Amino acid sequence: MSARIIAIDGPAGSGKSSVARALAAALGWSFLDTGAMYRAVTLEALRHDIDVHDEGAMAELARRVTLTTLPRVTINGRDVEDEIRTDEVNVAVSTVAANPLVRTQMVRRQRDFAAAQPLGTVVEGRDITTVVFPNATVKVFLTASLEERARRRGEEGAASVARRDDADTTRHASPLRQADDALVLDTTGRSVEDVVEEVIECLKLKTLS
Ligand code: C5P
Repeated sequence: MSARIIAIDGPAGSGKSSVARALAAALGWSFLDTGAMYRAVTLEALRHDIDVHDEGAMAELARRVTLTTLPRVTINGRDVEDEIRTDEVNVAVSTVAANPLVRTQMVRRQRDFAAAQPLGTVVEGRDITTVVFPNATVKVFLTASLEERARRRGEEGAASVARRDDADTTRHASPLRQADDALVLDTTGRSVEDVVEEVIECLKLKTLS
């Protein structure tokens, strides 16, 4: 049997990382934060003065870097867990993520990662239910009000969150959109535990049927 996947998409601050992390812990599965991958590649470009608009140079960078997300986010052996959340990266990451050549490299790595996990993987991002794992065991689309999402993102601020959402939903390559068969959950005012419980119920139904 191929490894099981719970795929989670949604806009910034909708609760994807917290829910995915808690789900993975509850199930004993692996967790993959794909946003951290796009952020790490963006940071590496900024550090080496590679123009993030140069599609070829960015694709080459995405192809040759060594990248891990667990237990810490590292790129070419350097721990970048904290640095990938800075304003500088928030501003540039949507440009990098809109590059279809970069996406091809990231999607390949994401599929390889999941295939190597013994039990299953909870994967979160923007194109996970639609492009990366369209046949996932469970597909979830998380939403929340902009006010709550901006509050969760703290220092980033509502304007930056809204700008990234707009860029991610309107880009040509793998835009953020709701898969037809996704479980859609509004996390506004809900606890992580509550959302996790609902997804686990859905997983049970899918795996029993
Ligand atoms: O999830 P997070 O906010 O860390 O993602 C950072 C950015 O990475 C997003 O705004 C989006 O541009 C990009 N991303 C993406 N596809 C994914 C995950 C993230 O395009 N699967």
